[in-house]
Amino acid sequence: MQEVMTLNHDPLYAGHPGIKRTYSVIALRYWWPGMRKSIEDFGRSCDLCLRRKGNREFVAPIGEVEESTAPFLVTSLDITSPYVTSPRGNKYILKFIDHFTKYMEAFPIHDQTAETCVQIYVTQLVTRHGTGSKLITDQGRSFMSSFFQDTCKILGCELRAPPVTTPSKIAPLNVPSLTSYRSVSLH
Ligand SMILES: [Zn+2]
Repeated sequence: MQEVMTLNHDPLYAGHPGIKRTYSVIALRYWWPGMRKSIEDFGRSCDLCLRRKGNREFVAPIGEVEESTAPFLVTSLDITSPYVTSPRGNKYILKFIDHFTKYMEAFPIHDQTAETCVQIYVTQLVTRHGTGSKLITDQGRSFMSSFFQDTCKILGCELRAPPVTTPSKIAPLNVPSLTSYRSVSLH
């Protein structure tokens, strides 16, 4: 039991999910008497989860995955390179990973500019999954701000980027939600 709980909570790919999510993942494959209680106790005693909850200044170690409670609430953006240049001139791979389902979409791109990434993000991701997602990337602050500005430009929104308060190099980026997009376009 202890091993099952540890395996479904601690590793990087599990990413220290909350008690509810740890429970639902384990319940897919296991059952034992008092399972919910033991998972609750386990979750409450996890040292890393405690530190994360109790200390707002706590900076997540690289690779730790932010908790998400529904599909496309938190999406990672990641660029990998270099690859052999394709006949179309693409040599980077732009990846979007939904933190809840671990669902990934990958697109070949020819450069790593925010503009190129926004193009893919809006035409491929927003059209199918909406814009409510929080985006996480370690591409750097200037990339983030141009990404945000370009997204707003394409979606027709006038919104300001939230101030970056975390010292972590992985800064969250809030893109405008579809509702605010609609209300802006009605004016
Ligand atoms: Zn934990």
